Amino acid sequence: MSAAYEVQKDKWNDVAIEVYYQKGHEFNIDRMIKSVKRSLDYYSKNFGPYQHRQVRILEFPRYASFAQSFPNTIPYSESMGFIQKVQQGPDKIDYPFYVTAHEVAHQWWGHQVAGADVQGSAVISETLSQYAALMVMEKEYGRDGMRKFLKDEMDSYLMGRTFDGKGELPLMLCERQQYIHYNKGSVVMYALKDFLGEDVLNQALRRFLDKNKFKGPLYTHTPELVGYITAATPDSLKYLVSDLFEKITVYENYVAALSYKKQRDGKFKVTLTVGAAKFYADSVGKQKRAAVNDYMDVGVFAGRDTNGIYKPLVLQRIKMDQPQKIFEFIVEGQPVSAGIDPYLKLIDRTPDNNIVSFGTLPEKVDLDPNKSQLPFSTGSKK
Ligand SMILES: [Zn+2]
Repeated sequence: MSAAYEVQKDKWNDVAIEVYYQKGHEFNIDRMIKSVKRSLDYYSKNFGPYQHRQVRILEFPRYASFAQSFPNTIPYSESMGFIQKVQQGPDKIDYPFYVTAHEVAHQWWGHQVAGADVQGSAVISETLSQYAALMVMEKEYGRDGMRKFLKDEMDSYLMGRTFDGKGELPLMLCERQQYIHYNKGSVVMYALKDFLGEDVLNQALRRFLDKNKFKGPLYTHTPELVGYITAATPDSLKYLVSDLFEKITVYENYVAALSYKKQRDGKFKVTLTVGAAKFYADSVGKQKRAAVNDYMDVGVFAGRDTNGIYKPLVLQRIKMDQPQKIFEFIVEGQPVSAGIDPYLKLIDRTPDNNIVSFGTLPEKVDLDPNKSQLPFSTGSKK
């Protein structure tokens, strides 16, 4: 890459940050630099030291639309962040910030540790970089700010698997399938962080990284990574690690009935019936129902705020050990809606029926393993 560049310089500790750009494309440079700093902070604290003395971002024209991480140097398309108009609001995604965090994460995931050229290799570079970037985003934009991003990731995954003529594989065995290692990877890692806790997960990732750092052949692979994660997981949640990494797991979580009564003391007694079905899919999308014995969240909400965020009156992690369960809650405020896995931590083939408003009848749910709202394709394998 060579151009008559302008340069904006900054520093993080003794690391030089430099953004090389075309004059007139200054719009998002401050966001990129902020993202580099936040990323270096989070990754060095949680994964270990940064190995270079500079981070350089270099703009290139929109002949192509991507960014890519080389050691300490990140070529970055003008269309990927430089000329984008970033809109404000929790329903908006700050892509220049996010893309930068993802690329800086590759300095650890991909550059400090690289996977062998086998199935699942992209999990070690791409899925872990997605996870790292999600954490940097969450710190900057809050947990509510992640909803839109994660919903988009789940939609892209559900869409991607319907069009995969090659055949879907579990996350840890994926073969250059972007809808798996990026989109599903984000949802999986965010759920894992939620269930295990951020520190527990980060410590497991760091142990995996320390073991494989700057190592030549034989290179590592996802069974080793998943081994470190499993080792850090309590027995009660080991099923989750297996479901997320080793199997193709899709839920149908839904509201079956809901009502409330105002009590004399002014509080509200809510009765909520929720259902959960779990399916394991094979590579052509054929799904088999599996017994549910899983932890998930149920909640009662006071409606959405002006930003579309559900305001919880109560939010609890429960165990769904029957296909349907009835819960009763006493809440202080006027309940507006309620549901199961309201924040969509688990991959759900009908995300929209997880929350239902009081006074409306939940739609009937079809639990046929192979029914879906999406036209799950059997692919072009025939
Ligand atoms: Zn990447």
